[in-house]
Amino acid sequence: MDKDGLMSLILLQEKEERLFRLLKEKEKILREIQHFEQELNNILKAIDNINQEKENTKKLIEKLLKTIENYEKNLKKITESLKTIKSKELYKNVLREKSKTENSIINTKNQLKQAYTQLNHIENSNELKDLLSKQKYMQEEIKNLKEDLESIEQSIIKAEKDIKDYKNTLDKSLIDFYEDVKKRVKPVFVPTDMKACSYCGTILPIDLYNRLIQNNIPSFMCPNCQRIIYKQSDIIK
Ligand SMILES: [Zn+2]
Repeated sequence: MDKDGLMSLILLQEKEERLFRLLKEKEKILREIQHFEQELNNILKAIDNINQEKENTKKLIEKLLKTIENYEKNLKKITESLKTIKSKELYKNVLREKSKTENSIINTKNQLKQAYTQLNHIENSNELKDLLSKQKYMQEEIKNLKEDLESIEQSIIKAEKDIKDYKNTLDKSLIDFYEDVKKRVKPVFVPTDMKACSYCGTILPIDLYNRLIQNNIPSFMCPNCQRIIYKQSDIIK
């Protein structure tokens, strides 16, 4: 493989690595979206529960108001009837009933007061406010992530097309060589790092290294990791 071939394959490798990074990024965004959607779902459930509790409390208040109304009607009837009762025994009984009803009214009014307090507590609780602001935040995050996803998907399509177009400009034998080595090691091409392989750190054979530096050879294989070593300065653009 001559120097031009080497350079064109290093460029192909860079393009593929860029595509790989984009695909990784896409996976990361998808995981984040999934995470936020799960969180949002939990928040919506919690909001639902609070709303349900609010509805139940409102229904209870209605019921208690109705109950008090009935007791008061009843009390009025009892009070009226007392005026016309002649029998002492019966009078006593009705009086007892009157007192019972008055107690019931007091009890129900106490319950009503509690229900109002509860409703007030639900409506003004920080929990609901927090949940609503979290909901807004999550929805905003999901929207942004979906926009990122769309843009990264566009970049992936472009990168894939770029690689395909670029491969069409290269010799088939060159690509076959690259694909073949790629089956064994990845990345295929690695630069020198001082006098060592930048991938595995092995000190390179000095004669091969010297010939590389003197531009007598464009590349050679790392004896340890089998990757193709090229001169660091060759890719500094
Ligand atoms: Zn190596």
